[in-house]
Amino acid sequence: MPAPPVEQAPVVGRPTDTPALDFEVVLNALPLGVVLARRDGVVVFRNRAATAVVGLRHVDLLVEAAVDRLIRQTSEAGAARTETLELFGPPPRVLVVSTVELADGVCLAVIEDISERTRIDAVRTDFVANISHELKTPVGALSILAETMQDETDAQVVKHLASQMMKEAHRMSETIDDLLELSKIELDAPLRQNNVDLATLVHEAAERHSRSAAATDVRIVTDVPDGRFVVTGDHTQLLSAASNLIDNAVKYSEAGDTVTVRLFREPGRIVIAVEDEGIGIPQADIDRIFERFYRVDKARGRGTGGTGLGLSIVRHIMANHGGEVNVTSQEGEGSSFRLVLPVQIGDNR
Ligand code: ADP
Repeated sequence: MPAPPVEQAPVVGRPTDTPALDFEVVLNALPLGVVLARRDGVVVFRNRAATAVVGLRHVDLLVEAAVDRLIRQTSEAGAARTETLELFGPPPRVLVVSTVELADGVCLAVIEDISERTRIDAVRTDFVANISHELKTPVGALSILAETMQDETDAQVVKHLASQMMKEAHRMSETIDDLLELSKIELDAPLRQNNVDLATLVHEAAERHSRSAAATDVRIVTDVPDGRFVVTGDHTQLLSAASNLIDNAVKYSEAGDTVTVRLFREPGRIVIAVEDEGIGIPQADIDRIFERFYRVDKARGRGTGGTGLGLSIVRHIMANHGGEVNVTSQEGEGSSFRLVLPVQIGDNR
């Protein structure tokens, strides 16, 4: 019996009325590096992403050597191979190279850049470790205070212990509030893009702290000139940024000091400056104060009830708005923090 005619198999996923795509165009559009090499290691094709990785300084030789080695191993053993390359940079990168032998004696190597994923994983792990530590401390203190209270009969001492417990509970709830705010901001939820009037916002933020400032005999002064100071952004986030800076300025000031909140314009941007005459920040710590949970002096931070999260919240908010926060400080003389926001065309019409 004659063999039945071989039917042309339809191309999976491509409707018959679409034109055939050049495979090179498809491979060049992929975010993964793709290398095709003969069994003897001679490269016959490299897509755009693979060329970009190989073209990187410090990286090229290492990646090329790994691709070459894995291709040889795959063609010798006929088995797929995977290797993770950690390149210390700068910038540090993590690449995964996988190879597989194709049916026609050609090996396929795929290079995936997982640097960002690895960075996010590391931040997450770090964050969880920090949170556990920060929450464990007040929980431990609460349990010791409660234990002491159990056997105490003196009403005065019980009262004192109860007030200590309230302080610890308050501190813990502040840390949780800050963590929730930070994770909300970090989620990169689409920002509410409204016109935000910074003159009103500065007064609102200063008003929030007028009571706590008065309680410690610190004066808050606002210097807001006439004019239109409008940016596009999220009112709640920007208020939180200004408010965090004023909170710190008051917290790290001494009785009789003044905190000045100024609003002014620079070419293409609007600046909110929060200046204090407080204890200042040592130069050695200044680059680190925007890190999560970083406090210049832990004892000092605890005395003032700080969580060490305020400035990382501020930094995130500024990044969300395409702006920045910067600081200058002199120990014993005071600090000046600036929120710098870009002004978009049409913002101040
Ligand atoms: P905290 O909740 O501890 O204030 P922040 O992230 O807001 O946390 O600030 C980090 C650290 O930076 C603080 O613990 C403090 O040591 C220092 N700091 C921030 N603002 C000021 C300031 N205005 N004056 C002096 N030190 C400051």
